[in-house]
Amino acid sequence: MWDRGAAHPVPIAPTISPVAADTDIDDWLASEGILDAPGRIEARVVLAAAGLTRAGKQRIATHKLTRAREALWAGITPVCASPACLAAAANPAKPIVRTGRDRCSICGGSNTRRAGREMVAACVRTGLERIVLLGGSGNAHAELRALTTGTPIEWRIIDGRNDRPTKRQALPDLAWAQLLVVWASTELPHRVSQVYTEDRPPGLPLITVARRGVEALCQAVTQFAQGSARTSG
Ligand SMILES: [Zn+2]
Repeated sequence: MWDRGAAHPVPIAPTISPVAADTDIDDWLASEGILDAPGRIEARVVLAAAGLTRAGKQRIATHKLTRAREALWAGITPVCASPACLAAAANPAKPIVRTGRDRCSICGGSNTRRAGREMVAACVRTGLERIVLLGGSGNAHAELRALTTGTPIEWRIIDGRNDRPTKRQALPDLAWAQLLVVWASTELPHRVSQVYTEDRPPGLPLITVARRGVEALCQAVTQFAQGSARTSG
């Protein structure tokens, strides 16, 4: 509408009106990874609460999409279709919305991440915070520590390939630990595990994990924590 009073008004091309710079909301939600109709409804509620749309609107101004994206992901609990993820999500404060695995707040596309979250939750519930782990690769140790960063869980890890602890070195670990985990399927010389298992205090539980992989280790600890929660509670 500008320049209307000029001698030679600049015509406004009919195809380039300001309303053209908008986006279909459902298409945009699909491109964000919101996969089904109930999810779109929840997402629209979140966007409306943020003042970014209102009931019945089909389109959203393209310049609002950055804010819409922030409001959307801050306002929902994205969970993939996996029954394990749905179970782990339980009753979150923010509504659950079905997404693809890479968007899932539980697994993020990774079964290991999901197993780690479950382990942390189970350990926190039962007050299990100090774990001595015998065995496993350096990569696995790094992954375990990453999965439990910012949680109450602490590890003391004996690397079966490099560490040669003495009984004297093992004693403070055994006194500290609430759980001793033997990762039997990894490279772990018997004389290394023996240093810990032979002098294990009577009250210190021991679990042996036969399967490889961080996911399996996390599942075993989860199972132990859940079992000890049942027997103590
Ligand atoms: Zn998932």
